[in-house]
Amino acid sequence: MIERMYAEYAWEKTETLLSIDSPSGYTAKAANWVKEAFEKLGFEASITTKGGVIADLGGENAEDALLLEAHTDTLGGMVAEIKGNGRLRLTSLGGMNPNNGEAENVWVYTRGGKVIDGTLQLCNASVHVNGSYSDTKRSWDTMEVVLDEDVKCADDSRKLGIEVGDIVCFEPRTRRTASGYLKSRFLDDKLSVGILLGFAKYLADNGIVPARKVYVHVTVYEEVGHGGSASVPAGVTEAISVDMGCVGNGLVCTEKMVSICAKDSGGPYSYEVVGKLIDAAKKTNADYAVDVYPFYGSDVEATLRSGVDIRHGLIGAGVYASHGYERSHMDGVYNTLKVLSGYLEV
Ligand SMILES: [Zn+2]
Repeated sequence: MIERMYAEYAWEKTETLLSIDSPSGYTAKAANWVKEAFEKLGFEASITTKGGVIADLGGENAEDALLLEAHTDTLGGMVAEIKGNGRLRLTSLGGMNPNNGEAENVWVYTRGGKVIDGTLQLCNASVHVNGSYSDTKRSWDTMEVVLDEDVKCADDSRKLGIEVGDIVCFEPRTRRTASGYLKSRFLDDKLSVGILLGFAKYLADNGIVPARKVYVHVTVYEEVGHGGSASVPAGVTEAISVDMGCVGNGLVCTEKMVSICAKDSGGPYSYEVVGKLIDAAKKTNADYAVDVYPFYGSDVEATLRSGVDIRHGLIGAGVYASHGYERSHMDGVYNTLKVLSGYLEV
């Protein structure tokens, strides 16, 4: 039975990964870190042409291999326009919501290698000046990045090296409470990458060789829909996305549980795989919920759409306030590890 210490390890790795900015399209540094993290545990890992990471966790039967997918790309922004006043209009990378980003610290990565601080604010953001502050609908047209530099016109911003197409990252504000809650932007899906590293460490520490060959694909374009649509190793018969579990009205899962997804916007998951995930949860006494996610798509659905003949499933620690300032819990991390261990009977 996998011990709780591997949940601690998973969070330790997650915290580090959260400190490496990696919105979709700007993931090379994070992917390299992930590759090296698997290598340090003794597993072979490589970067795919597209920029993701494939790791080989070993195992016997390579004709019935299991692929575990998680993503290290996150939401973020891109400079869409340098406005006349030198401030920046953004476009979102993935489903970054302007309501959720308001008043957040951001930084711009210029192509020249500079990092420039700013804040995402409503245009004309002083409530003592703007009578429409409360009534203005937040959108990428009514929000702007105010740079923390002496900028009065577009040329001032360009002189700093900023150009259209630059990447804008949001401060994740990562913290763990004494009660075990985990709060950060982008727990989706760096928490699951941490969980897969925790699982890999469990295999490595105990010299476990699973009966089935196990691969991990840490993808880098999930938030824009095509992360899992390539790089499926030969012999894979099943793929399981390890991604955030939904928490909200009408759903059973909490942040302390592992969520098993029965259906999302992409339709039902494999009845057989969902059944085996439930069996694995029961067998390992994992606190779990089976839920239907109303607005959700996953990497493993992208894998299926790419034409690969596999059965698919999805699990993950419960995450509240998804795509905002997200919250999960150490218990949810541990319960997810339990289901992985139960599924592979290790
Ligand atoms: Zn995700």
